[in-house]
Amino acid sequence: MLPKRTDLLISGTYLISMDPDVGDLPCADVLIGDGRIVDVRPHDPVAHPDAHQPAAPGRRPADHGGVTVIDGTGTVTLPGFVDTHWHLWNSLLRGTVGDRPGTDYFTVKRALAPHFELDDFYWAARLGLAEAVSGGITTVHNFDHNVRGPEDADANIRAHLDSGLRGRFSYGPPDSAAPDSPNDLDDLAALRARWPAARLDGRLDFGIAVRGPYRTPPEVYEREWATARSLGLPITMHCDRCLREEGCRSCGLTRLEELGLLGEDVQVIHAVHAGEQDIRALARTRTRVSLSPMTEMRTMGFPLLTELLDAGVRVSLSLDTLAMPTSADILGHLRAIVSVEAARTGSATVTPRRLLRLATLDGAHDLGLQDVTGSVTPGKRADLVILRSTDINLTPSGDPAEALVYTGQIDNIDTVIADGRVLKRHGRRVLADGEPDPVAMAAAHRDALLRRAAAAGDWRPPAAGDTTAARETGPDR
Ligand SMILES: [Zn+2]
Repeated sequence: MLPKRTDLLISGTYLISMDPDVGDLPCADVLIGDGRIVDVRPHDPVAHPDAHQPAAPGRRPADHGGVTVIDGTGTVTLPGFVDTHWHLWNSLLRGTVGDRPGTDYFTVKRALAPHFELDDFYWAARLGLAEAVSGGITTVHNFDHNVRGPEDADANIRAHLDSGLRGRFSYGPPDSAAPDSPNDLDDLAALRARWPAARLDGRLDFGIAVRGPYRTPPEVYEREWATARSLGLPITMHCDRCLREEGCRSCGLTRLEELGLLGEDVQVIHAVHAGEQDIRALARTRTRVSLSPMTEMRTMGFPLLTELLDAGVRVSLSLDTLAMPTSADILGHLRAIVSVEAARTGSATVTPRRLLRLATLDGAHDLGLQDVTGSVTPGKRADLVILRSTDINLTPSGDPAEALVYTGQIDNIDTVIADGRVLKRHGRRVLADGEPDPVAMAAAHRDALLRRAAAAGDWRPPAAGDTTAARETGPDR
């Protein structure tokens, strides 16, 4: 199903490596072999004399002994972006969730979740991952909070493997599960036997997505934590409520620390209500934090990026869900964050270059993949994004990092390489021969899903012409 891996030479690109030992190379060659970054060096025009010449008619672009040369003239190359929290299954809800009464995220999600069939999960995940490719995201953490049985998990895992991307699948409960009903811990324990390393292509690992003390009683979350830790699985959890009294300006993370629920193996998401004590607890316990600025600013509040970074907390970025008003336009997200942080704090902590690290190397650290991806470093896997720096919105430019964050767009992404496979080229996603386009498949499955839900009386779209705006009802969970 996947495009074939080829040995590649990116020739003469401006490289923002995100590796402190490599730094920026204004005119670099990046050699990729067998899916791995083999070498990064200043451009050598002698070794590859025709790298910048147009291909002769009837001939493939410059080909050097089996190495395909990608002419990097007028481009910037970055490590692939890393997303650390994304509910891929509700990608099918995009366009159904909206602003009109009855179309808020939670109403739609709860009405449609029971009507998902296995193929819907598969194509929802493929749609989200196709959009990730389009946006230069090469690693995705799939936080699945609608696992109704092992087959649902398997459909998501197959989609991830078929997409060519790297990532993690975190096993959650069914949507709207009762608070006293734990995740399927038996199946969680069986997951590695069903999906041994040989089937995962070195691109996927597993975790557990829990509701935690925010939404489940101690007898549930204590079992979930104990099982995850006995299996050596990382834990992820939304953190969007107060655990103490109303209005205490805290999301209760000090309480979680007292309960032994924080640590390097735990990722908390959002934490927009964290007070100073909470942030200190996160830093002390080396707990990871995934911020989703676009959905947080829509429904929860401002992401506390500056405060968390200043306290030394390990932070990463995430999309959360395509059902809310968001997309895989990471540069657009970074531009929003840099402006919001400047307005909110007046601090210079959050610079364009710091944000690019947040979206790459820091995301890799969050997922424990810092030796695999997140920077253009010899020995790491080849996850790369190549952008055209000669496009109108990037010209003229000074520091390429500033240019990308201040004026870059998803349209500037020319090429995306994931694990050595070219998944986007000349601005278009690359499909393997005979592979159906996930975009068309997902659209058809969304339509069928809505018809089934309507037939069951569970979902009625708002009347045409009803444009009354309705506020979103709360954060994602
Ligand atoms: Zn979420």
